[in-house]
Amino acid sequence: MSSYDYDLFVIGGGSGGVRSARMAASLGKKVAIAEEYRFGGTCVIRGCVPKKLFVYASQFHEHFEDSAGYGWTVGETSFDWTKLIENKDREIARLEGLYRKGLDNAGAEILETRAELVDAHTVRLVKQNRTVTAERIVIAVGGGPNPHVALPGHEFCISSNEAFHLEKLPKSILIAGGGYIAVEFANVFHGLGVETTLIYRGLEILSRFDQDMRHGLHEAMEAKGIRILCQDVIEEVTRTPTGELAARTKNNELLTVETVMLALGRDPATRGLGLEQAGVKVDERGAIIVDEYSRTSVPSIFALGDVTDRVQLTPVAIHEAMCFIETEYRGNPTSPDHELIPTAVFSQPEIGTVGLSEEEAAKRFEELEVYRAQFRPMKATLSGRAEKTIMKLIVNAADRRVVGAHILGHDAGEMAQILGITLKAGCTKDDFDRTMAVHPTAAEELVTMYSPSYRIRNGERV
Ligand code: NDP
Repeated sequence: MSSYDYDLFVIGGGSGGVRSARMAASLGKKVAIAEEYRFGGTCVIRGCVPKKLFVYASQFHEHFEDSAGYGWTVGETSFDWTKLIENKDREIARLEGLYRKGLDNAGAEILETRAELVDAHTVRLVKQNRTVTAERIVIAVGGGPNPHVALPGHEFCISSNEAFHLEKLPKSILIAGGGYIAVEFANVFHGLGVETTLIYRGLEILSRFDQDMRHGLHEAMEAKGIRILCQDVIEEVTRTPTGELAARTKNNELLTVETVMLALGRDPATRGLGLEQAGVKVDERGAIIVDEYSRTSVPSIFALGDVTDRVQLTPVAIHEAMCFIETEYRGNPTSPDHELIPTAVFSQPEIGTVGLSEEEAAKRFEELEVYRAQFRPMKATLSGRAEKTIMKLIVNAADRRVVGAHILGHDAGEMAQILGITLKAGCTKDDFDRTMAVHPTAAEELVTMYSPSYRIRNGERV
């Protein structure tokens, strides 16, 4: 009989926390999980899920326009932001209920409170003002938007958190950042009819992606009417006498908009968590430092998901939780595998990607074959929409392995999932070549690009 109140105490009811609590409880462990806000975490409550619903909402106006070429006449259309928010909130509440039910069914105790560490085995439940003990503790508290406090006027700006609950749709928005959130929300707001400007400090948006994807998306967004300012940053935001916001930029632009949104990365939510007191080490960004089994500097305390700032993605947090369970409760030490993570940017068009960008691959391999196709998607023929799809395979010439696959176009995220399997399996270009095409699809290009578009040798295009 354990001398602790619980076998496992989980702090944080997001993707990683819920998964570890549910799995441990279903293995017969005595588990409690504390959450101070809502179960489901960033992904379900104010991230991936509501974002995707917004993406769908924002695509309809193009669908209506495109239908004309296919013989349809669509009557007058209008958009009701309040209705979208209400319906979205209902769906999020349903999903939150499922998360709770899963925990309940597995026998985990749900605690609606903030929880903070006291020592290696003790947690303080803030709401109840009492402490409990556990043999193991998992910290899975995620992160929050970087508030950019160095920016004068940052208090006037919103983050993605507030974007999900705006009382009304703004007429105009300025979004700062060039990452996933900035790019996705720029497309969402533009699609819903908001005059949208994106401002990014670097040369080209989406710094960690393949150049072709970055340029291709940039062009497509500008062609839709989104203004993109690169190599510029907001230096100050002030409120104008008419209640709008004026953003002055480094390049001396003065942008007057209704809303300014900052999407400048997300910080680990470790402040005030009692980490120092318990002896849990963090890095300079406040992220919890863990070993290859998600164990912190305190042997009984583990951390997973965004709070460790390894890869900030929901499926990664879930995977880390499963590895923790395997290691600690199934006697099968398993470290998370962070190699070849497929991912999608739900921009319009989407980007789906797995593996190395051309630029990264060129640094690692002596010779690359690059297969590249650019074409007009079939649906655009009758709709008349000027859009293009780009597909790219990066192949290590030495062993013919496909080391990167990148798609810009409709359903790129769906395709990235399947491509992820092929790269994980170590497929070569010859495996792609001997795979029969599915016709007519866009994805068939992936198996019909027979000769390289160009080669990269020692970093130089030849
Ligand atoms: P990202 O890390 O993707 O992007 C942050 C952006 O902010 C970068 O363009 C960065 O520039 C810029 N930036 C950072 N600090 C400053 C600064 N002080 N001044 C000006 N610009 C700055 O973060 P996001 O906030 O977009 O998203 C957070 C995480 O959430 C992502 O890393 C992603 O893993 C996850 N996410 C995933 C999604 C998906 O899977 N579809 C969707 C949304 C989020 P630079 O590039 O030059 O560093």
